[in-house]
Amino acid sequence: MNILVVNAGSSSLKYQLIEMNTEEVLAKGTCERIGQLISQLKATGKDGKSFVVEKPIPDHNVAVQLMLEALVHKEYGVVKDINQIQAVGHRVVHSAEDFDSSVLIDDEVMEICRKNSDLAPLHVPANIIGIMACKEAMPNTPMAAVFDTAFHSTIPPYAYTYALPYQAYEEWRIRKYGFHGTSHKYVSQEAAKYLKKDVKDLKIITCHLGNGSSITAVQNGKSVDTSMGFTPLEGLVMGTRCGDIDPAVIEFIMEKTNWTISQTMDYLNKKSGVLGISGVSSDFRDLIKALYEGNKRAELALDVFCYRIKKYIGAYVAVMNGVDVIVFTAGIGEHNPEVRERVLKGLDYLGLEFNNELNYNVVRGKLTDLSGPNSKVKILLIPTNEELVIARETQALIKNN
Ligand code: AMP
Repeated sequence: MNILVVNAGSSSLKYQLIEMNTEEVLAKGTCERIGQLISQLKATGKDGKSFVVEKPIPDHNVAVQLMLEALVHKEYGVVKDINQIQAVGHRVVHSAEDFDSSVLIDDEVMEICRKNSDLAPLHVPANIIGIMACKEAMPNTPMAAVFDTAFHSTIPPYAYTYALPYQAYEEWRIRKYGFHGTSHKYVSQEAAKYLKKDVKDLKIITCHLGNGSSITAVQNGKSVDTSMGFTPLEGLVMGTRCGDIDPAVIEFIMEKTNWTISQTMDYLNKKSGVLGISGVSSDFRDLIKALYEGNKRAELALDVFCYRIKKYIGAYVAVMNGVDVIVFTAGIGEHNPEVRERVLKGLDYLGLEFNNELNYNVVRGKLTDLSGPNSKVKILLIPTNEELVIARETQALIKNN
């Protein structure tokens, strides 16, 4: 069975075609700068050959057409015609409180997604446009929605309720929702598999550290708390997002600058984080280079980033009354020994020991056990694979229907 995984953003559309028997990625690509003057499809197709199609992509319908043309292309294509795509799995950012797992898409699901658009106005409308464009091009192909928030639907009310007047929750649905659910779910299950234990018997802290970063407490296989909140702005320090701050800072900045609320939110979302502190970059490759060159602000940015993670680990140990496994994943978590070292140092009160030599000599793309021989807490580096989770969930839904 071939499953197409689609992740539609406001100006991009990413896809992967996965053959489910082997879980091999047959083809993948990204349509970039949709709706702008210069747009392109960057893709990999048959035999891993890369190619770029430069042409105007005015909207998502054209992006979907371009993606399908690439998949059946004479030279680069990996299938003869689109009927060889048995299902499509769509990443949908927000499910509010309506879905606690992935669902097959029908008119009712679309209606609920539209209703939830106001909760993630930058993402859900784009997800919907992507789904509609695929439905138009492949009207008879079953499609599933896999939600970023669904894994966090098990967080209890005392953890997701903000201490605002209760009306804010009842009327405006303001609460912690959490994101990156597909990744946290995947790596916690992979951790249990590696340890040959039932995920239901483990207390796991999963650190998804990428451009966007979040950390989750997974107890008995369920998310019981996570650092992102109503939006992805809450929690850890990120590439360009500030994470937790005193909300009164917003009023103070606006008074100092006369900025509008959207300018101020832009400042917190796009100009803050390690970029804002360091003045160097949001990318950890640049940040680490600057650190080794003696840049003090790059060092401070890294220290702030790691300190926040450590603080959340302490909080989640308290939440679960212990921890059996700490997992690092995503771009920074997988490729950044400096971050892992700074986070793990000083956690010996947990009986945690880690192999720092191995930490600096990890083979890329492989699950690696960084625990020391006597460590009471397992430290695992697990490459995440959100597309594969979306494909697996889509396949499971198709098989059960
Ligand atoms: P993600 O959002 O998971 O793709 O992670 C993106 C971030 O991971 C980038 O901005 C980099 O900071 C970091 N990253 C990716 N690859 C490397 C690497 N080889 N070395 C250090 N950092 C990396």
